[in-house]
Amino acid sequence: MTSVLDTDIKFLPGVGPKRAEVLFKELNIKNWRDLLYTFPFRYLDRTRIYSVSEVDSGMSYIQLRGRITRINVIGEKSPARRLVASLSDSTGVIDLIFFQGIKWMKDRLKINNEYIVFGKPSIFNQSLNLVHPEVDPVTEENPLYVGNMIGVYPSTEKLRNTGISNKQLARMVAVALKQTQDLIPESLPGYILAEKNLMPLRSAIQNIHFPVNQRVLLQAQFRLKFEELFYLELSLLRIKTIRETNNKGFGFPRVGEFFNYCFDKIPFELTGAQKRVIKEIRGDMISGRQMNRLLQGDVGSGKTMVALLCALLAADNGYQSCIMAPTEVLANQHYNSVSKIIQGSGLEISLLTGSTKSAARKEILEKLENGTINILFGTHALIEDKVKFNRLGFAVIDEQHRFGVEQRARLWSKSDELPHILVMTATPIPRTLAMTLYGDLDVSVIDEMPPGRKGVRTIHASENQRDRIREFIREQIASGNQVFIVYPLIKESEKMDYKNLEEGYENVLKHFPPDRYKVAVVHGQQKSDEKTGNMELFVSGKANILVSTSVIEVGVDVPNATVMVIESAERFGLSQLHQLRGRVGRGSESSYCILMTDYKLSKESRQRVDLMCSTQDGFELAEADLRMRGPGDIEGTQQSGLPLVLNIASLSKDTMILEDARRYATTVLEEDPQLSADKNRNLRNQLENMKQEVRDYSQIS
Ligand code: ADP
Ligand code: MG
Repeated sequence: MTSVLDTDIKFLPGVGPKRAEVLFKELNIKNWRDLLYTFPFRYLDRTRIYSVSEVDSGMSYIQLRGRITRINVIGEKSPARRLVASLSDSTGVIDLIFFQGIKWMKDRLKINNEYIVFGKPSIFNQSLNLVHPEVDPVTEENPLYVGNMIGVYPSTEKLRNTGISNKQLARMVAVALKQTQDLIPESLPGYILAEKNLMPLRSAIQNIHFPVNQRVLLQAQFRLKFEELFYLELSLLRIKTIRETNNKGFGFPRVGEFFNYCFDKIPFELTGAQKRVIKEIRGDMISGRQMNRLLQGDVGSGKTMVALLCALLAADNGYQSCIMAPTEVLANQHYNSVSKIIQGSGLEISLLTGSTKSAARKEILEKLENGTINILFGTHALIEDKVKFNRLGFAVIDEQHRFGVEQRARLWSKSDELPHILVMTATPIPRTLAMTLYGDLDVSVIDEMPPGRKGVRTIHASENQRDRIREFIREQIASGNQVFIVYPLIKESEKMDYKNLEEGYENVLKHFPPDRYKVAVVHGQQKSDEKTGNMELFVSGKANILVSTSVIEVGVDVPNATVMVIESAERFGLSQLHQLRGRVGRGSESSYCILMTDYKLSKESRQRVDLMCSTQDGFELAEADLRMRGPGDIEGTQQSGLPLVLNIASLSKDTMILEDARRYATTVLEEDPQLSADKNRNLRNQLENMKQEVRDYSQIS
């Protein structure tokens, strides 16, 4: 069903083939609809006119109205050469300054004429000015630019070079809107608009581009965000229902020898939370439905044991399992810790990673295919085509957020019938968000730490406390403990960061001289064996201090490490700080996390540091993180797994709307599971369209 909205963008008056090409390359705009759905990402408020006496240098963009009383060109050569025009209203005079386009502006401005100017106040030559403001004669009727909220669209150099300024883009939108607005079909059923009190789509599109005031802008944004999130949830819930009816799921009714034998050999008592989660998983495994479950648990809460015990249940019922970790270090760690427990049980386990030698690999693949191997541990080497299971019944993915959706899908295809799936993550995410991000998963939570953990005392310190901290580190080392010192490494400032790390390392060597201390250093610029060698020094306890960047593989357990010093802690997000802190406090000794920062901190940085010092609860921190800055990690990957691309809504910022949308979608589906009622025809069509698009994507990749 084509409509005028599908018209190629080059046919829009004022566009043409050349600009069309740039619009497509830079903003992915192919047709008129794409243009109308390219929303401003912020707005300049031109609804209010300030008077000159109100202006101060702290203001953002403001609008003034007055007469030009003086025009001068000052200075000989650029960059000093500039045009200065004085604008006065009844309250005072302010200078408008132009370093560029001097001649053009000079011809345009007329003494004594009235203008509306729009710019950001700044201080120049010790007085208040507007530098390069937008200037419009008052006589010109320009409804788009004076007296409204002005949308700011995404802009790139290429766009600007092709003459597509913000103003131009807004004009194009205005033209497209004028010709098509009455033809934009409503995408939500009338009863939903009424029940949720939503602005109709046509007005929403109009007002998202050209809001006449803040209030209608908010209404338009709400309507568009709600719609996106509602369809997202509706589609996820539908997929879930369909999957549940189509996939019976393997039944694992028996608790047998493997489980009982190993259970008795576990050297500790399971926590209440671990027991509860195992019950939840077992519930799924005997339910006649295929399990898709997300297991959240803070760093060190004991997720591996839960995964192992469930894999034993699978084995007791004649099925194979696999446990996939994101790195070799973690895969090794899983394999080794489980090896001890299963010894003597008759259970066969194996480890398959990128560094498995080809002879060993061949044997593993054979044993896997003939069913000898019960549990296979490994990295993404597990999802290569050659890896074939005999009877895969249970698949575990550890630290899920590091795996792409595609990789997950390939794991699913390892058996004719979908295995039960458990996805584990230490990144705590609020429930609704988790259910959305991870598609249609059920969620289990381990909210209790194994007993005997002393906790980590967190301290905030600055440069003037360095001596005391070094003294403290010496004491800790003297009593046989080890110390991490971590430097931030951020892509944008990589060079500087390495410099900081190097200087820091040299400084550490100075205060912890080699004749008395052993300091290891690990970072991404080292060769692989140099890295491994240094890491090994620390893991084996030979090195007292490990200096490293935050990106190194620190999944390793070093129970002897009791101090984590985080340099420039203000540059880390809360979740990252929490993950780093989780590397100490694993043994029986008291542990410490020291957050080193500048004296001067932004309000947000201070909040983060204070929060870290006041709580160790990963969930509390994650929620705060989400509130404060949106989760970098999540925001980055959020789009990849979803059945629809979010254009305006944000999973992290629009949490309330997201929850509302999920509740509402649930209600709609409860009342009409097949969406077969007449009033839901719109919903059904939209979902069909979404499916089409998703299929297209999958064909591209
Ligand atoms: P994570 O949830 O971070 O993956 P692990 O599964 O690696 O945590 O467990 C962290 C450590 O705690 C391991 O050394 C594990 O053996 C131990 N552990 C797990 N469960 C318990 C328990 N109930 N009591 C004591 N120690 C436990
Ligand atoms: Mg783990």
